Amino acid sequence: MTVDLRSDTVTRPTAAMRAAMVAAPVGDDVYGEDPTVNELERRVAELLGHEAALFTPTGSMANQLGLRLLVRPGQELLCDVDAHVVRAELGAAAALSGITTRTWSAPRGRIDAEQVAGMMRPDAGPYLVSTVAVTVEDTHNFGGGTVQPFAELERLREVTAAAGVLMHLDGARLWNAHAVTGVALSTYGRLFDTVSVCLSKGLGAPVGSLLAASAERVAEARVWRKRLGGGMRQVGILAAGGLHALDHHLDRLAEDHKRARRLAETVAAAAPGALDPSEVDTNIVVIRVPDAKALVAACRERGLLIGALDATHARALTHLDVGDDEVEQAGQVLSEVLASQR
Ligand SMILES: *Cc1c(COP(=O)(O)O)cnc(C)c1O
Repeated sequence: MTVDLRSDTVTRPTAAMRAAMVAAPVGDDVYGEDPTVNELERRVAELLGHEAALFTPTGSMANQLGLRLLVRPGQELLCDVDAHVVRAELGAAAALSGITTRTWSAPRGRIDAEQVAGMMRPDAGPYLVSTVAVTVEDTHNFGGGTVQPFAELERLREVTAAAGVLMHLDGARLWNAHAVTGVALSTYGRLFDTVSVCLSKGLGAPVGSLLAASAERVAEARVWRKRLGGGMRQVGILAAGGLHALDHHLDRLAEDHKRARRLAETVAAAAPGALDPSEVDTNIVVIRVPDAKALVAACRERGLLIGALDATHARALTHLDVGDDEVEQAGQVLSEVLASQR
């Protein structure tokens, strides 16, 4: 049996989720008449402590709508060098919204409020680019599922608020951060002007993300979603998957985290130096190797799918579709292959 740990996006909807999707009442969401979408938007807005939310087909669209609400063409957004919004959204902020970005480097993607504060140049006058927003990723994807220390987020909000700089949260995996820290989703949400969350990662829905913000900002985002071709019709059929995920899959994320930590411990025992299990905060395990492509290929031959982050880092993610047995099998394969490649 193949075990697929390439991403937490590979999950397939459970039978119960499919049943909920089939049974969902639907209507034309472009007319605002899909009761299931309306319910999901209401619920996520409330969870995140915002007035309103908007359902989008992808996390990239939710992020890019959020960013364009905060930053006008030619203005500056600050983010870290490994942020999904600059590495994995195909230049959308520049291509679609004329946003210029400047980046900071941070080990494992962990933010340092002082470092960011030192880079902000609000109201820079007619000669320099003015910083108008900062974006934070929590958990940090390419950083290895890093949970941002909540106190640091609060400090960042203080310094940005003092400077009149706005904040966006790329919370594709905010659910995972919440599962670790126990900080309420609304407490996270209220620190930010716009927040994106994803239903199709750890929560296991097939499609969908949301952008939460003020009612005024969400109304503007709705116009831009349609303009970008994201106005969808009887999409309650997908929103129902998201509602089911919130009801049934949010509370189980800690299981994914435990399995990831166990996998990391197995790998560290077999290949000391490949990783530090204490750095596995959530469901993402990053493995340092001389040749990540060779590791990925050798694992594939043995029925284990993992991904290469770059030339010397591979990654494996635990998720809804893998249990203890699959993770044990993955640990065995990785141990054998890492031992043979030393
Ligand atoms: C997956 C992900 C997104 C959204 O990706 P889509 O594939 O566009 O849904 C955004 N941010 C982060 C950090 C992600 O991991």
